[in-house]
Amino acid sequence: MSKRQLAMVMDLNKCIGCQTCTVACKTQWTNRNGREYMYWNNVETYPGDGYPKKWMELGGGFDAAGDLKEGTIPNIQSDYGVPWDFSFDEIATFDYTKNNPTPAFRADETPTWGPNWDEDVGTGNFPSDNYFFYLPRICNHCTNPGCLSACPRDAIFKRDQDGVVLVDLDRCQGYRYCIAGCPYKKIYFNPKLSKSEKCILCFPRIEEGLPPACAQQCVGRIRFVGFLDDEESQVHKLVNKYKVALPLRSDYGTGPNIYYIPPTEAPAKFDAEGKIIEGSERIPVKELETLFGKQVHDAIKTLRAEKDKRAKSGESELMDLLIAYNHEDMFRLDNNYYQEIAKAKGNANPLAPIDERYVKGKYTTEISHFKAEEHE
Ligand code: SF4
Ligand code: SF4
Repeated sequence: MSKRQLAMVMDLNKCIGCQTCTVACKTQWTNRNGREYMYWNNVETYPGDGYPKKWMELGGGFDAAGDLKEGTIPNIQSDYGVPWDFSFDEIATFDYTKNNPTPAFRADETPTWGPNWDEDVGTGNFPSDNYFFYLPRICNHCTNPGCLSACPRDAIFKRDQDGVVLVDLDRCQGYRYCIAGCPYKKIYFNPKLSKSEKCILCFPRIEEGLPPACAQQCVGRIRFVGFLDDEESQVHKLVNKYKVALPLRSDYGTGPNIYYIPPTEAPAKFDAEGKIIEGSERIPVKELETLFGKQVHDAIKTLRAEKDKRAKSGESELMDLLIAYNHEDMFRLDNNYYQEIAKAKGNANPLAPIDERYVKGKYTTEISHFKAEEHE
């Protein structure tokens, strides 16, 4: 367990599934060099098989006795899907003057799965009781990470200063036990480097007081970022004060530090004549209980009570937080804290990260995220 823990809260009532977060992350960290299929941030439609396919059924995490459970390593072709390219060259050279109605704009693979493959499919019968919602996912920077416990090389570490979980790429030998051990399947194998890689919670941004790219770019303003022990942070208020933000599948036993406001705002169901069934729940609470545990009942009660209070009196701190009037209030990152750590370590370069294990070493110089020499 780290001294402090950085956490993120995502409000599922506000996610519009636009994938801006996914693109912000992809373009920043994983757009090439064996990372093409990696989505450190993905947004899937729930219910659905997700990314990688059926990740909730692939094992990992801990049992009730605290022992690591067996897990499966997803197959790159069938469970993630091979990233395809479009035949842009053929489009450029296509002769539109000829009477051929089908321009040659095709994928160079025949894909069978991919990120967001089952977008907006959901379940139920339209329009009476169908439903789905978006579930954005990043690494949970767990308190008790399954990936870390599974690694026989001690290549995965959790930073003491903020709980960010990282891979020491010098120590990693690409055995992939971490992937089997992570029940969220949020750590990926890089076949070009033969190393495992994962979300780094944008630590170079965080240390400068900036939120992760996914949170900064989120158009729905669904993401709050802060330290759990910082009582002024909105994250603390949502998780600890109002207890409306809950971890995903806490039954996996890893102590996830990404929290979710459960979706409570779906319309009521319709009867056979198309009339509203008053008081009905379109998103079954049982499903929400599977995802967020029994605490979801109290969280929903609090959310609805505060919504009512706000409607009647115009006052509710919780509703104000969730509306997120001021973007900057959603993030409390305290770069002074990181500067003090750097100072205490005698770190002369203000851009050097507080923990160099991720960026420095014999092999990591080859990795394009950070070249070690830039930080020396
Ligand atoms: S979500 Fe998975 S990869 Fe991330 S810290 Fe937890 S166990 Fe490790
Ligand atoms: S950018 Fe925000 S609203 Fe859009 S998909 Fe990502 S989390 Fe949802």
